[in-house]
Amino acid sequence: MVMRVYKLNIFNNKKITACKCIIREKGKCTVVRMDARKALLYKRIGEPAKKLVHCKLCSHYCIIKEGEVGKCLVRKNIGGTLYSLNWGKSAGFAIDPIEKKPFFHFKPGTRVLSFGTPGCNFRCLNCQNWDLSQAVREGGSNALGVPTTTPLQIARMAKENKADGIAYTYSEPTIFYEYAKDTVLACRKMGLSAFHLFVSNGYFTREMLQEVEREKLLAGIRIDLKFTNDEKYMQVCAAHVQIVKDNIKRVHALKGQIALEVIALIIPTLNDSEEELREMCKFVSSVGKEIPLHFSRFYPQYKMQGLAPTPEKTLLRAREIAKEEGLEYAYIGNTDLKGVENTRCPKCNALLVERDRYLIGKNVFGKLSEKERKNPKCPQCGYGINITI
Ligand code: SF4
Repeated sequence: MVMRVYKLNIFNNKKITACKCIIREKGKCTVVRMDARKALLYKRIGEPAKKLVHCKLCSHYCIIKEGEVGKCLVRKNIGGTLYSLNWGKSAGFAIDPIEKKPFFHFKPGTRVLSFGTPGCNFRCLNCQNWDLSQAVREGGSNALGVPTTTPLQIARMAKENKADGIAYTYSEPTIFYEYAKDTVLACRKMGLSAFHLFVSNGYFTREMLQEVEREKLLAGIRIDLKFTNDEKYMQVCAAHVQIVKDNIKRVHALKGQIALEVIALIIPTLNDSEEELREMCKFVSSVGKEIPLHFSRFYPQYKMQGLAPTPEKTLLRAREIAKEEGLEYAYIGNTDLKGVENTRCPKCNALLVERDRYLIGKNVFGKLSEKERKNPKCPQCGYGINITI
């Protein structure tokens, strides 16, 4: 296959935005944006003439015909080559406390540069960032017409703002993996020691995780466990629970090479029953009792306006159940409840890290020596604490 990429502004002598290009193959032209990047993690399959591709970035494992897009709507098969259409299309840059992601057991008190792009492999009816994640589904391909921000510009932004790390968030980072990876590499090239975190729905593939591990791209992944019931996962998010569970196990099996935290949004009537909460806690505890589990309060969003916010007593009960099931660190977020975000020693209950929303108060790990940082312990009883300082 002969394929050439030309800048569109030299085509037909028309004045067209410089961010477009033509992919020409055997006389046939397809117009795409110039910043669309050849995708990673896909394979051509079947007879060459059919130009089918098999995307292996997320666990939908889409088989995509020529000219079509995958379920995420931001990966397109053009002439038998898969392109990422949301490369460079970052939106919503912010400097956030890491606690906002939430990461409570990875470098507490640090600041991260956060961003996401249009596109998602889920279509959660309650998505709080639906105007970004579902932008293509709701608004068509115009949603991808935002100006490009290059990985180098993001690395510079992180440096100028003295960010300790970068969080790939707001929409599903798996779906902009090439862009995220290029950003990690741009930071490395600049000599920036920033860490990189995915705030993920946990639907990435084994292939993606293997690459992340091999190339040491990420320091942490926070995964959403939305339901334990597959029917509800399918109904609300169009996805399967087992894949998310398997990925929680896979990240955990990396034994701390990638920090793992799990979050569950508790939605009245959908996953707030005693049984569902217990099943959720039992599962996380069976993978690792030291995994931080966050229960987050639901507020009506997007297509789920008919439900009330989660009662605080439900969240407090969820935290109790987590403790009953042996989980060492369970938190409640998105409320004004006091003391539910503090990290305490699972053995002697000493206060280790004090939090109020995103503000850090006491932090006993603040002044550890290099040696102590490698193996943080409760200063009162010496119990080993799962925390990266
Ligand atoms: S990232 Fe997932 S949803 Fe998108 S094309 Fe690939 S397999 Fe399909």
